[in-house]
Amino acid sequence: MIIEPRTRGFICLTSHPVGCAQNIIDQIEYVKSKGKIDGAKKVLVIGSSTGFGLASRITSAFGSDAATIGVFFDKPATEGRPGSPGYYNTAAFEKHAHKAGLYAKSINGDAFSNEIKEQVIQLIKEDLGQIDLVIYSLASPVRKHPESGKRFKSVLKPIGEVFSNKTVDFHTGNVSEISINPAEGDDIANTVTVMGGEDWKMWMDALQAENLLSDGAKTVAYSYIGPDVTKPVYRNGTIGAAKDDLEQTAFTITNDLKSIHGNAYVSVNKALVTQASSAIPVIPLYISLLFKVMKEKGIHEGCIEQIQRLYSQRLFGGDLDLDEKGRIRVDDWEMREDVQAEIAKLWESATTENLSEIGDLEGYSNEFFKLFGFKVPGVDYNVDVNEVVKIPSEA
Ligand code: NAD
Repeated sequence: MIIEPRTRGFICLTSHPVGCAQNIIDQIEYVKSKGKIDGAKKVLVIGSSTGFGLASRITSAFGSDAATIGVFFDKPATEGRPGSPGYYNTAAFEKHAHKAGLYAKSINGDAFSNEIKEQVIQLIKEDLGQIDLVIYSLASPVRKHPESGKRFKSVLKPIGEVFSNKTVDFHTGNVSEISINPAEGDDIANTVTVMGGEDWKMWMDALQAENLLSDGAKTVAYSYIGPDVTKPVYRNGTIGAAKDDLEQTAFTITNDLKSIHGNAYVSVNKALVTQASSAIPVIPLYISLLFKVMKEKGIHEGCIEQIQRLYSQRLFGGDLDLDEKGRIRVDDWEMREDVQAEIAKLWESATTENLSEIGDLEGYSNEFFKLFGFKVPGVDYNVDVNEVVKIPSEA
């Protein structure tokens, strides 16, 4: 079928298998071009099909020749209905990994559930024995708690007072004022339950209980801090409370892993266009200014560049360069004083009329469509494609 983008708000309802596959090839080529990384050889990535988790899986496989197991929650294609991008990404990743002689298997299901944890445990026992690195990169709006069966929803709200600031509709370029009401009731606790550290610890406990972590095993989860303009809705908001919890959990897990000399880290990454970040008001305007400034300074990075740098320079590069709170920082270029000073100035003057000039709205929009396999250079979208693609290890 001919597949075209169909958008609703910050969601694209369709995705393109050939475009997604090309994105994978481009990321693999990038990692290969940077040379080998003396990193982990058996890697479990939880949240492996898009964004930072996908980039982690690709970097492990093609940077360190690692065997990878990926866990994600995506929709397979059926005849006449394209699958979700993570499904196509995983199919393409596995195909290229297998071609390169690398072990790669994938499990599609709810990572928060006991059933999926059990499936992963069985797979590790059968195929890999032990894991050297666990990447935890879930981004989800909901979590069904495995013990109570209760469904929790995360919200993106400020805490304490109404937050008003500018935002942009990146499809139309319309800059407007937005007001977001503060969290109420159980909003904060629910967001912490979904996006905090509890599930990360549950994974690590389950793996350790079965002796599936190698001596010196590492685990890394991803966090974000960001600038003052987004603070009320991000770092000081409900999602920030969840990130505080995630960051604290790293210390608990490190303590739990003492007997195997393991370590848990949080890496603070740069703001990037992913499905998760497109959903947060104010962030798209910030990102479009950020991209413009960082591109002009020659320091722009996408997910794959971020993770390749995280692995080669920090995690396996001999210098973690932790901050005062014990976190790895690959948001260092985003947070540079000169970068932030320029954005703050641009922020004041940003309007619908001037944003396409002072910001990188086109870059934002292109990146958004690229997430779904559209607007990928080199792909002919007029060609009929087979939408029913299978993930090799699931076939
Ligand atoms: P993403 O939406 O691109 O990827 C999320 C992944 O989680 C996908 O593979 C998805 O299939 C999987 N997933 C979601 N719910 C699941 C479930 N119930 N079971 C199994 N898999 C599930 O997100 P992302 O932007 O790459 O975010 C990953 C992490 O990085 C998050 O912790 C996020 O806060 C953090 N981070 C994001 C940014 C950013 O700008 N996007 C910046 C810094 C840190």
